[in-house]
Amino acid sequence: MTAEARHCCDLMRLYVEHEDRVMLYWPRFDEYLIPVHDGGTSGIVLRYCPWCGVRLPKSKRDSDSPDA
Ligand SMILES: [Zn+2]
Repeated sequence: MTAEARHCCDLMRLYVEHEDRVMLYWPRFDEYLIPVHDGGTSGIVLRYCPWCGVRLPKSKRDSDSPDA
């Protein structure tokens, strides 16, 4: 499970890979999320990079079965 995701910029990569998990990246859905610290795993899905402004990949959440 060491697949490297291609992130849009160095800042995104920095935060996604940072231990404090400022930002989450879910390769499964190709989603970037800001974690919501409510004790669960929910987060706010980002559509644009907050740093470089690039449009992020469209989520695959709707087209991917969790049990597949
Ligand atoms: Zn970026």
